[in-house]
Amino acid sequence: MKLVFATNNSHKLEEVRQILGDRFEVLSLNDIGCHEDIPETGDTFQDNALQKARYVKEHYGYDCFADDTGLEVKALDGAPGVHSARYAGDHDSEANMTKLLGELEKKSDRSAQFRTVIALLLNGQELLFEGIVTGKIGTERHGDGGFGYDPIFIPDGYTQTFSEMGAESKNLISHRGRAVRKLAEYLKQL
Ligand code: IMP
Repeated sequence: MKLVFATNNSHKLEEVRQILGDRFEVLSLNDIGCHEDIPETGDTFQDNALQKARYVKEHYGYDCFADDTGLEVKALDGAPGVHSARYAGDHDSEANMTKLLGELEKKSDRSAQFRTVIALLLNGQELLFEGIVTGKIGTERHGDGGFGYDPIFIPDGYTQTFSEMGAESKNLISHRGRAVRKLAEYLKQL
């Protein structure tokens, strides 16, 4: 079965292809000739994931899935949330982490979670799959692996940050890994 994953992020594509296996040919946006920026103007992960998947279906005609992810910090009422990529600047992870650590300086509750929502448009149906990993924000950066907020996120039950854990261990418990495995379970029983 051919399915478009509305991304050009090679790391995400590789992860998803591995989990879905040979039965599914996962095409990227590049593969279908979609080079424009797809609008992401929603207030929730769900809205943004649906918006991206619907865009691909409407403009390119493919069945499709799309994801949206962010970090939700309890003491900040869920911020940065849908604004995670641009919290302090345009996809500037260092600036984003500096801002977040600053915002939390005077807060005692440092609990947070990463959340991924995947929207699947298949055979005229819309389905949503969610993955969450809970944890806390450390007081300083640790580790040099991963990306985004990984150096300051410590998942519950662990003492290391996502950056220190390595990709394989991270994928087993991560928000995205969990959401993708739910998607895979659904697709494999079709
Ligand atoms: P996206 O929707 O997957 O592009 O994620 C939006 C933003 O959330 C990214 O730019 C990162 O700042 C952050 N983010 C998403 N997933 C992760 C992760 O696994 N680790 C750290 N940061 C993440």
